[in-house]
Amino acid sequence: MVLAAMSQLPEPEAPSDFIRDRIRADLQSGRVTQVVTRFPPEPNGYLHIGHAKAITLSFSVAKEFGGRCNLRMDDTNPAAEDQEYVDAIKEDVRWLGFDWDALYYAADYFDQIYAWAEQLVEKGLAYVDDQHADAIAASRGTLTAPGTNSPFRDRPVAENLRLLREMKAGEWKDGEKVLRAKIDMAHPNLNMRDPVMYRIRKMHHQRTGDRWCIYPMYDWAHGQCDSIEGITHSLCTLEFEHHRPLYEWFCDSLGIYKPQQIEFARLNVEYMLTSKRKLLLLVEGKHVDGWDDPRMPTLRGLRRRGYPPEALVAFCKHVGVAKVNGTHEIGLLEFFVRDWLNKNALRRMAVLDPLKLVIENWPVGASGQPHVEMVSAQNNPEDPNAGAREVPFSGELLIERSDFMENPPKDFFRLAPGREVRLRFGYFVKCTSVDKDAQGHVTAVRCTYDPATKGGNAPDGRKVKATIHWVSAAHAIDAEVRLYDHLFTSPDPASADGGDFLRLLNPQSERIVRGRLEPSLGSARGGERFQFERLAYFVCDAKDSRPGAPVFHRTVALKDGWQKAQKKGDGKPA
Ligand code: ATP
Ligand code: MG
Repeated sequence: MVLAAMSQLPEPEAPSDFIRDRIRADLQSGRVTQVVTRFPPEPNGYLHIGHAKAITLSFSVAKEFGGRCNLRMDDTNPAAEDQEYVDAIKEDVRWLGFDWDALYYAADYFDQIYAWAEQLVEKGLAYVDDQHADAIAASRGTLTAPGTNSPFRDRPVAENLRLLREMKAGEWKDGEKVLRAKIDMAHPNLNMRDPVMYRIRKMHHQRTGDRWCIYPMYDWAHGQCDSIEGITHSLCTLEFEHHRPLYEWFCDSLGIYKPQQIEFARLNVEYMLTSKRKLLLLVEGKHVDGWDDPRMPTLRGLRRRGYPPEALVAFCKHVGVAKVNGTHEIGLLEFFVRDWLNKNALRRMAVLDPLKLVIENWPVGASGQPHVEMVSAQNNPEDPNAGAREVPFSGELLIERSDFMENPPKDFFRLAPGREVRLRFGYFVKCTSVDKDAQGHVTAVRCTYDPATKGGNAPDGRKVKATIHWVSAAHAIDAEVRLYDHLFTSPDPASADGGDFLRLLNPQSERIVRGRLEPSLGSARGGERFQFERLAYFVCDAKDSRPGAPVFHRTVALKDGWQKAQKKGDGKPA
């Protein structure tokens, strides 16, 4: 009854927030007929989790309102940009599951932007300044004191035009001249105090080659690019709020179409840095193994870590947009990762710290070798369509060392002398004795099995208190398994004392072990994600795996250490 009623409820509406409300109002008032957004990365590094939020927002908004979203390379500064980054950005946006309606490059608008600069000069709204960068900075004033006018501010239009053309023609050296907007050196907003529009940079550009030696500043390019593309809502992060008056001044002064810039809070996640500049330091200092190191918050890194793009997008949608910067708990992000993996990852058995388990009453086969039996194992209890696989079971198995204790405390219910447990999908086994080396370390546990418990249940209804996983010693494959933890010891590495976040690197962020895995994992493909039962979620690494020698990365723990910690109240993952 209730269910039937629920199925008649309308579809949940598009999310409501200050950005979408604004867009709805613009559509209603007729200011906008079709929504056009853009994602404008500068190709000077790899995209990170913060960009995932900007991407999800701009692409989703366009889709929800039946509009378009462009991908635009904001490639106005050749100093740090590279084609390698351009290619990676395209790939990473697609990996997240989005596709642009059009791909543009700010550099393709250089001619138009330059023509507009001449227009501003002709209108007496821009001038060439001979002062060096430090003199310009020094004359800018402060929040409480006005700036001072440049001695070159009142140059005649004709001279400004000639000098600008000479700058463009390469007749002046880097730093000798800049073009500045002529606004107001006493403006309360420092960005409006005659901002620099063009500077001379005799540098090769990855797209325009050596055609240009003057390059536009961000503020002088961004709004113009948005205007050319007819962007209706230019969504960007809060640090651009104080640049909006300048964005609007340029469009108004040129008399060109003026998009609406709307700012939202940057995404920050505990234990993660979201600044390309800082991430570059990690890469260059070899503190990580490249931009795609599985501990990096780059989309490449998260992908190698096994994070599903669907989980990242769900997380970004869940956190939504805010007007105040804040930091999200990593546990929340991991919740979305685990939620997706629980539904989609195939279950497998793997032993990372093996201890031999010998079944003394296991039958010998016709060949004189121990008998091998194939047991049927469910691929994913959460997904009835995932089916089952066959796993070899025999008289010599490997179990997790931590699943056995010779002298167990009261609350340990797994294997111990005299104790019976269930081997997952297999049989009940009971520990009869242990083998030890000369130092007294346990080298093997000896058990008997009950043939009547095949599949994991006793016909007489007797119960065991634990189920443990296992692999067959003769069949298990050997694999490198990389266990990852947070890259930093502090949840807020960005606010490290003196900016020295390297001091906060976690020396235990990567631990490499050799695991013994059920044989089906030998044919795992790069990027395939699994749950190793009772251990964690893992992904087969596409980069370092070789045929017959797969490498696995731990993506996220099975249990929600975060929620537990919330309950415990000490904030520490359990
Ligand atoms: P970084 O400081 O890492 O270099 P950026 O802002 O300079 O970042 P861009 O390539 O210019 O990087 O960013 C492209 C878009 O992504 C911009 O619109 C920017 O506002 C947005 N963006 C960047 N970082 C974040 C973040 N942490 N959260 C949300 N959006 C972000
Ligand atoms: Mg930027």
